[in-house]
Amino acid sequence: MHILVTGGAGYIGSHTVKELVKTGHQVTVLDNLSKGWRATVNKARLLKGELTDQRLLCELLQAEKIEAVMHFAASSLVGESMQCPADYYANNVTGSLVLLEAMRKVGVPYFVFSSTAAVYGEPIEIPISEDHPTIPTNPYGATKLALEEALPWYYQAYGLRYISLRYFNAAGADPEGELGEDHNPETHLIPLVLKTALGRAPEIKIFGNDYPTPDGTCVRDYIHVTDLAQAHILALEALAGGVDFSIYNLGNGNGYSVLEVVQATEKVVGKPLPKTFTQRRAGDPAILVASAERIKRELQWKPCYSDLQTIIETAWRWQQKNPLGYPKC
Ligand code: UDP
Repeated sequence: MHILVTGGAGYIGSHTVKELVKTGHQVTVLDNLSKGWRATVNKARLLKGELTDQRLLCELLQAEKIEAVMHFAASSLVGESMQCPADYYANNVTGSLVLLEAMRKVGVPYFVFSSTAAVYGEPIEIPISEDHPTIPTNPYGATKLALEEALPWYYQAYGLRYISLRYFNAAGADPEGELGEDHNPETHLIPLVLKTALGRAPEIKIFGNDYPTPDGTCVRDYIHVTDLAQAHILALEALAGGVDFSIYNLGNGNGYSVLEVVQATEKVVGKPLPKTFTQRRAGDPAILVASAERIKRELQWKPCYSDLQTIIETAWRWQQKNPLGYPKC
């Protein structure tokens, strides 16, 4: 298939492009490079452009005979979304609706959507299944949910078939060492811990140690980015095989606390790391752990790299090789 991957120069997008190309698909990446890196896209065609450019999108979908869209391009930081909700609504809702409109006009039948555990809000039940109530507590989750809620109507009226994938904590790096995680600014736990190990950050700040968890620090479900990428391929195959729509969680069902992540990293890098406890970060629920039973059962998804040690080892390998991240051009 020829697939358009929006945001394909970003962290999860680039790992998915790699797996799609390996599987034999043709890929075109659309990315405005506001967060993504040109260097990640070396096996697909990269088009620099905006999601809100409907003319560009229509021409692209039509000229390239695109059969499916995987939509990663989005703003994705909880804290930033609390400060700048307008940007989140513009990028994540308006941008996505322009894309869907172009798909509708041209008649592209399949849509795989990057959603998030942030659609659930404060969990009332752990592990969180797809049937858990969705009451987001920040604009990031709210904007992702807004698009999820549009999709059934697009299916009903226009026949758009879709799968929404709700990611828990994407982590790790391509096991072959070609791709990694490079955000600017970096806010995610594992790359920040590894930057401390490399001496590029003075210490790890642990946000809160008074949560109702066994060691007082937040518990998250870390899922390897290559396992996430594989789930996108299964979603695409399911749509092409006749599935009309679905929503799946992507996590590994095991929670690790921030302290456990730091300790596991100390083992991988072979030395203790400087750390301090600071205030809680606004908007952080105490525990987020997925039930991913549905996608395992229905699409036979089998995460292969998602034990914590493999996640950290693959991330560490890439960070050591690329201490300054991707080339900044
Ligand atoms: N965290 C932390 N220190 C940091 C960055 C993150 O203690 O410098 C915590 C954060 O509060 C959360 C967990 O690590 O409980 C994972 O955060 P991250 O930003 O990686 O992902 P999120 O859960 O926000 O998607």
